[in-house]
Amino acid sequence: MERFDVAIIGTGPGGLEAAINCRIRNKSVLLIGSKDLSFKMSRLEKVSNYLGLGTVTGEEMNKAFKKHLDEFNLDITEDKIQTVYAMGDYFALQGKEVMYEASSVILATGVVASKPLKGENEFLGRGVSYCATCDAPLYRGKEAIVVGYSQKEEEEANFLAEIAKKVYYLPVYKDERHLDSRIEEITGKPTEIRREDKTLTLVTDKGEYTANGVFILRDAVSAGQLVPGLETDGAHVIVDRSMKTNINGLFACGDITGLPYQIAKAVGEGNIAALSAVSYLATLRRN
Ligand SMILES: Cc1cc2nc3c(=O)[nH]c(=O)nc-3n(C[C@H](O)[C@H](O)[C@H](O)COP(=O)(O)OP(=O)(O)OC[C@H]3O[C@@H](n4cnc5c(N)ncnc54)[C@H](O)[C@@H]3O)c2cc1C
Repeated sequence: MERFDVAIIGTGPGGLEAAINCRIRNKSVLLIGSKDLSFKMSRLEKVSNYLGLGTVTGEEMNKAFKKHLDEFNLDITEDKIQTVYAMGDYFALQGKEVMYEASSVILATGVVASKPLKGENEFLGRGVSYCATCDAPLYRGKEAIVVGYSQKEEEEANFLAEIAKKVYYLPVYKDERHLDSRIEEITGKPTEIRREDKTLTLVTDKGEYTANGVFILRDAVSAGQLVPGLETDGAHVIVDRSMKTNINGLFACGDITGLPYQIAKAVGEGNIAALSAVSYLATLRRN
């Protein structure tokens, strides 16, 4: 398996800036996220506070970022990392179906807007899952509930519908739905997950739904869930001024490190995280 110098998780402004700087320093880069870059950015109607660009839409910024990546031949690996394991002098990253290795990691996954549901952490791996593509085979002939926090999660629900006996979909957003006709849409604000005799119940303010499993699909999972042992302060990763976390070789940048949630801050921190990762790699080689 190829071991990259740096794995960067997240294709928002923080992760992209980190990727460009690692490439400029001649490091092998694994950039993981979406070829559409940041979903959050693509929805911004007007950004006026980013130096040099005047007033632009988020989509226009994404286009400019993409052009910059292309100049450096930086490819994006489309995947969603489930867990990052610190293995000592390298990291193993569990994707939906593939495992990756890198000597250092930069977390640029943005911030998770919603708190975990009551029972979500408790039943994670015991009926609660964050990845429909990974766990769909377990639901052949079974029923599943999918809670989707953005339109792009519908693709995973549609995939699950090809395998499961029945899929219920609860959208936690207002955009138009493009769901497989086999999926039954349900409504309500999710509040809790309960488990009894291997059956899970999703509680909402409009009623309760029962199935064999519940998939919670958000744009990002919380940093603490993504990296076991990572020190966080609620939703945010604790970093020092060089963007180092408490785990050697692991850095973080952008919204995930805390307020203010701003593009310029994400880019600045992406730059610092990249340079810190490069210094860390130099110490690894010396040892
Ligand atoms: C309504 C609104 C308006 C805003 N307006 C402005 C503004 O005018 N000016 C301004 O400066 N800022 C604005 N912001 C804030 C700005 O959008 C964020 O600060 C910026 O996008 C943060 O960049 P980031 O790189 O940290 O994360 P994000 O842009 O959130 O990108 C994170 C990326 O990581 C990916 N990801 C997450 N988890 C994983 C995983 N496990 N595996 C792989 N990929 C993963 C996500 O899919 C996403 O693509 C606004 C935000 C909102 C919501």
